Amino acid sequence: MSGATEVLVITSVDELPSALSRVQVSSVCAIDCEGAVNASPPELSLLQIATTAVVIVLDLLQLSHGGEDLSTLLSTGELSTRVWRSTALTKVFWDCRGDLALLRANGVDLLQAGYGQVLDAQLLDVMTRSESDQARLDRLHPVVYRGHVRGKPRLFSSVHRLNSLVGALKEHGLAADPECGEYIAARDAVTADFKKNMRFWMERPLSEHAIAHAAGDAVWTLRLWRALAARATQAQLRALPGATLRFDAVARHMLYAGVEELFAQHSLLPLCVLAAPPAGTMGMRVCERGCQRTLPAALVSKTGHLCEVCGGLAMTKASRKEHAKQEMQAECDSIFRSNDSDY
Ligand SMILES: [Zn+2]
Repeated sequence: MSGATEVLVITSVDELPSALSRVQVSSVCAIDCEGAVNASPPELSLLQIATTAVVIVLDLLQLSHGGEDLSTLLSTGELSTRVWRSTALTKVFWDCRGDLALLRANGVDLLQAGYGQVLDAQLLDVMTRSESDQARLDRLHPVVYRGHVRGKPRLFSSVHRLNSLVGALKEHGLAADPECGEYIAARDAVTADFKKNMRFWMERPLSEHAIAHAAGDAVWTLRLWRALAARATQAQLRALPGATLRFDAVARHMLYAGVEELFAQHSLLPLCVLAAPPAGTMGMRVCERGCQRTLPAALVSKTGHLCEVCGGLAMTKASRKEHAKQEMQAECDSIFRSNDSDY
């Protein structure tokens, strides 16, 4: 499963103190959650916390089965004092947005003051890329069609593509480790089940693959974090806490503003996350038809009222529609032609 990292699945409240005391001795841990993210309100199933020595998988459904309130369990007691409120323990996520939303819906807001540092390794992956502008643009395909990018590369001057956890493990050479191969295989098996059943994580018993996937998400986030942090500059590491806050704030804005799914759920990095936009409204423009954020005017088209990210997404969606229409037309034409030949 996760090789050298011991996996502890916690199903009873009595097991929590000794498991959490093992996390407490570390200075950094990786955190991941599983659940029904799109349910309203979002539902939590598992909470995984990995250090270099151990990964604990808290089965929150089982833990709250004995009548324990989940919000109380998560926001008070052992978990709160030993993990959340421990300022000595840095919490690392891979794409913090969904996990922080799941935790927030259950009474834990990790970005409040006094909760210790929260860092997003997915952002550090983008920050530490040392590639040409062309390589950055090449990554955008197929989220933005290559033709659109090639035609007007200046329209995508600040757009970055986010990496998936597995994508980054492969890119940084960690996937060559046989343990990582086992984790990816478990993940693939679970993804196939999840596609058939969106409430997969809310059902019990969980398969061995499901536990391996959940534990591995946290374990490999931590290992990747260590690799990325080792090559990051001090300036990049100093910029990361602010970038993580903005990444979460943008996701919350999209949710509250009711932004269309096309502009809210994609793998492009929202603009002005890595570096803060200038303060005030001077020289700013609203991406009215897309993410509805107020951004530097140079990044938002004057006529289309779309920012560089939303503009690329809208163009690609329109091209896909046009392509589908042409295919349908070609199919109709061929049916007519075959009918013609009958007469
Ligand atoms: Zn936008």
